[in-house]
Amino acid sequence: MRSQSSAIRRKLMRMILLTSGIVVVLTTMAFFAYEMFTFSQSTVRQLRTLGTAIATNSAAALAFQNADDASSVLAAFQAEPHIVAAALYDKSGHLFATYPLHLAPMALPATPAAHGYQFEHGALSGFQDVMQGGRRLGTLYVKSDLGAIYERVIVWGILTVLVVGLSLVVAYLVSSRLQRQFSTPILALASVAKQVSDSQDFTVRMPLSGTHEVDQLIECFNHMLQQIERGEGRLLAQLSRLRLLQEITQGTGNRLDLESIFHVVLGTLEESLPIDFGCVCIYNPSAESLTVSSVGAASRAFCEPLELDEQCIVPIDQNGLSTCIKGQLVYEPDTRNIPFPFPQRLAKGGLLALVFAPLIVENNVFGVLVAARREANTFTSPDCEFLKQLSEHVALATHQAQLYSALQQAYDDLRQTQHTVMQQERLRALGQMASGIAHDINNAISPVSLYTDTLLEREPNLSERTRSYLTTIRRAIEDVAGTVARMREFYRQREPQLTLAQIDINHTIEQVVEMTRPRWFDLPQQRGLDIDLKQELAPDMPRIMGAEGEIRDALTNLLFNAVDAMPQGGTITVRTRVVSGPEERQTVQLEVSDSGVGMSEETRRRCLEPFFTTKGERGTGLGLAMVYGMIQRHSAELEIDSVAGQGTTVRLSFPVYSERFTEPGAAPEVTALVRRLRILLVDDDPLLIKALQDTLEEDGHLITATNGGQAGIDAFTAAHSSGNDFQVVITDLGMPHVDGRKVAAAIKSISPVTPIILLTGWGQRLVAENDVPPHVNRVLNKPPKLQQLRNALAELAA
Ligand code: ADP
Ligand code: MG
Repeated sequence: MRSQSSAIRRKLMRMILLTSGIVVVLTTMAFFAYEMFTFSQSTVRQLRTLGTAIATNSAAALAFQNADDASSVLAAFQAEPHIVAAALYDKSGHLFATYPLHLAPMALPATPAAHGYQFEHGALSGFQDVMQGGRRLGTLYVKSDLGAIYERVIVWGILTVLVVGLSLVVAYLVSSRLQRQFSTPILALASVAKQVSDSQDFTVRMPLSGTHEVDQLIECFNHMLQQIERGEGRLLAQLSRLRLLQEITQGTGNRLDLESIFHVVLGTLEESLPIDFGCVCIYNPSAESLTVSSVGAASRAFCEPLELDEQCIVPIDQNGLSTCIKGQLVYEPDTRNIPFPFPQRLAKGGLLALVFAPLIVENNVFGVLVAARREANTFTSPDCEFLKQLSEHVALATHQAQLYSALQQAYDDLRQTQHTVMQQERLRALGQMASGIAHDINNAISPVSLYTDTLLEREPNLSERTRSYLTTIRRAIEDVAGTVARMREFYRQREPQLTLAQIDINHTIEQVVEMTRPRWFDLPQQRGLDIDLKQELAPDMPRIMGAEGEIRDALTNLLFNAVDAMPQGGTITVRTRVVSGPEERQTVQLEVSDSGVGMSEETRRRCLEPFFTTKGERGTGLGLAMVYGMIQRHSAELEIDSVAGQGTTVRLSFPVYSERFTEPGAAPEVTALVRRLRILLVDDDPLLIKALQDTLEEDGHLITATNGGQAGIDAFTAAHSSGNDFQVVITDLGMPHVDGRKVAAAIKSISPVTPIILLTGWGQRLVAENDVPPHVNRVLNKPPKLQQLRNALAELAA
């Protein structure tokens, strides 16, 4: 800075000095030339005057031809030291007298020339006529050296040097003061420019210097700065918007649900644009309306005065909204001037400036971003531009979120399906295992059941105690058989069950309540919980048609769910009632209510889905799905009322049985004694064979027992060929190598009329699946009940 400033100053100074130096030299030279000219003129004039005086004085000497007088007159030139030679010529032109006296005639012109003076050969010389009375007497010659002029030149030279020197000194002094007027503001200008470029601070301004041109320059400079500053201001504003946009982008980037995207957008707008009110509305094309989806947190203060809250519906009339819905950003600088309901609503709520920005995805407007401020005319066009860009961004983010959730849904569905398939696979495997187990258990308990029945029936001398023990054994066996049946039922594939029966629902309820007692009473009580089960059963209920097993299972599931929902204990109420519908159609309603935890909206929506459970590992998510399946198969209806924290009521409505459905009911019990029959018994379980043989022989029949299918067929063939046919064949279904189906087929091919009873652990399932082997007349479950066996024999061999 220092060196720069001194450089400028030096240059300026040099310029000034050079200029003034030249001016002074030129001026002096002009003066000098003029002076030389006038000086030489005056020298000539002086010489002429002197000459005239001498000539006048020498006239007499010439007239009288007195050379001495002439010489003494000429001697007067001694007074002028510059006169170097003088001479008088007579009228005929002969030299007459000289000065100095003995001047060699060589130094003088030989004859006088014409009148006049001239500079010649470094001297001034000339001739002058000597006159008297109008007569020319002779001629005077005078020659002067130029010493006077040389002196003058020297004097002038010295003077010039002095004047130039002096004027330069003065010029220096004056200009060094004056130049500051220029250099100071210019240097200041330079320093400000440097400051601006160094610190990017465009707010500095220069004070005026007082010099017109420099001030013009400074004003221009300041103006330029001002322009830059304004530009920078715009730039900064744009930058800050960009930053805001980026902030919002980042904020929404990792959010994938609409709610929280809108939340971030509105929150940031409220804080940073800022706006006083902001909300996002979703467009509903069919209703030509907008639904307020999200209101900014700080904007909620306006909800009440605006009568506008989330989920509230705003109709689209001919106001700015309809323009916005067409995809244009709408700015209303002053809502008071817009005579449409929505702007008026905002105006009343104290919001005067309003912007609607459309949310567009793939050329479809799906919503509107509403931004408002209290004061009118407060949205600038950059504000609007920003809101437009923002709305594009929000639309994009929303679209992405929607895509994401669709993807997520698809993925979830896929996983669910995969899960379901796996579950089904597992269930199938379990089902097969369960069937096997059921078969084995049924086989194992069959003798117990048969012997117990026989003993109780045939032994008249049993003590009371023995009788009671046997009764207990029978009940226990029935329970085991029931449990096995339920287990098998659970795993069996759900297919429309064809064997419907008339059901007294109250009776079924009582059974189930009793059966499930351990679960709703004993278990909770062990844990110190009280579960109260109330039955409010309407008397004289009409019958319904149904598969009792399925209904029982459904009810069991509902009771279990109710217990699960009451981890702190509570009340379960089971209700029945008859409800009359249109056309005198009656329905039987069965309700299971609990005072438990209830369901959330989401749970309530999904609880019927297979595998949906909120119980983690403890739940299978199959309970309600099974109930729903049963409901479908019974043309019944299912309703679930539930409020989180307030309990749940599940209501099943069955159509009342009407005569239209008549089907052969359970066969009447045949108690009549059956005649003695020759029976072939085919089984692979020796214990069961023995039990069956014993019991049937007790009934008086003739029993031939064979172990395994092939032995059975052989025995029948042998008897047939000896003409001693069996009247009934009882065969097991599951046997190695030759099973019950094959036995039945073989026997029917030999003797088509011989009735065949199939004993099976899969009995119910066979019936249910319409899978009764062709040649079989009756299917009986294991463990066989003596009474059922008797009925079948009575019927078939009648
Ligand atoms: P699981 O009992 O194995 O979970 P369900 O199909 O029986 O399967 O029930 C599905 C879900 O429905 C349960 O996990 C539970 O969240 C909900 N639910 C069913 N019944 C009730 C009830 N009575 N009270 C509260 N929630 C219930
Ligand atoms: Mg359940």
